[in-house]
Amino acid sequence: MNAYVARVIEDVKVKYKNEPEFIQTVEEVLSSLSPVVDAHPEYEKADLLGRMIEPERMFTFRVVWVDDNGVAHTNTGYRCQFNGAIGPYKGGLRFKPNVYAGIIKLLVFEQTFKNALTGLPIGGGKGGSDFNPKGRSEAEIMRFCQSYMTALYRYIGPDVDVPAGDEGVGGREIGYMFGQYRRLKGVWENGVLTGKGMTYGGSRFRPEATGYGAMYYLNNMLAHQGDTIEGKTIAVSGYGNVAWGICKKARELGAKVVTISGRDGYIYDEEGVTSSDEKVAYLLEMRASKNGSIKDYADKFGVPFFPGEKPWGVKVDIAMPAATQNEVVMADAEKIAANGVKYYMEVSNMSTTNDALNFLRTKDMIVGPAKAVNAGGVGVSALEMSQNSERLVWTAEEVDAKLEAMMKDIHDASAKAAETYGLGYDLVSGANIAGFTKVAEAMMAQGIF
Ligand code: GLU
Repeated sequence: MNAYVARVIEDVKVKYKNEPEFIQTVEEVLSSLSPVVDAHPEYEKADLLGRMIEPERMFTFRVVWVDDNGVAHTNTGYRCQFNGAIGPYKGGLRFKPNVYAGIIKLLVFEQTFKNALTGLPIGGGKGGSDFNPKGRSEAEIMRFCQSYMTALYRYIGPDVDVPAGDEGVGGREIGYMFGQYRRLKGVWENGVLTGKGMTYGGSRFRPEATGYGAMYYLNNMLAHQGDTIEGKTIAVSGYGNVAWGICKKARELGAKVVTISGRDGYIYDEEGVTSSDEKVAYLLEMRASKNGSIKDYADKFGVPFFPGEKPWGVKVDIAMPAATQNEVVMADAEKIAANGVKYYMEVSNMSTTNDALNFLRTKDMIVGPAKAVNAGGVGVSALEMSQNSERLVWTAEEVDAKLEAMMKDIHDASAKAAETYGLGYDLVSGANIAGFTKVAEAMMAQGIF
């Protein structure tokens, strides 16, 4: 490993020892970059990596809200404006009890390189709160979102920082936050948030974009291998927007998603979770209910349910973790390899622990990394920003065509970057190198700060 790269990784391990998820992502990304840093000794002199692992700005704020019984609750809000070299900070908000600085920084580090991969002018940002939306009423969610935006609105804007959704934040929450921003600022700046509803500046396909994009990326991998999607079986984890998009697109392309999972376990549906209109409607209902239970699907459609388990022991052609970070650990990776999975596609950010990912990369399968596979989500967010700034709305066909082309570009740029450095068809390293190169060149051009 390049000595400068190794030193920066060691420094992060010491300095951020209480943020293990951040250490994990820094180690994963930087360990791909040795050949690039070898070729660019000027990066060390400019301490480019040291600057890259330090957020430009990161802040926390108090978010107080009153529940339906009149009792006040205090949560911590976060926003990290990590790297603005190639565009306004851009990235989602996550509302989940386990949110803390380490999770925000894992997500924002990934986001920075992912956003660069989209080819669009968006920098890296991320935020959220340790608020738990589970079991909260509509009115409580609204008051929380309003309070969150009241604390944040001064620090964001269409040319400054553009938040969006992530886990626990969907169209409903974005609506409340946009309403509060508009109320506080008294301006129509709908480019300040993405993932909006269609009546006030949302983009067609944003809800499906991450899942659709992942399937388009998969198509490119398959084509590279001279393979096709038709008739393939897929194990998916998760039950949210992303899993939903994958299922919908898989059905259209003639592939079959046989598992989905919730907080309580996973279901195995041999016929496919989108094999009837009733099942499709049920998936939508589940996505909206947010209670995270999948057992009802098994009861309703008479398929096996595996309480407390993850779907990685199922024999399929393609495995697509789409729930949350570190959902695939070494024991899961061993099962995936033993089952002869041919394509392992990370969809959730940092789906895989580093040891499990490195293990899978040595096996006879193609690995697609999250920051490339799931980039269609933020990619369509950037398209939403373009539509907002031009005050127009593109048709579904226009957005879909742009998304498909974007995913091909991301795949091809990653494959090319890996090849340039003699790494073969290594999409994990390729995505890291391609994303890094764009940010690095922009930072070098803009001087030292
Ligand atoms: N949270 C999503 C992601 O991880 C979307 C971010 C966005 O649309 O800004 O990329």
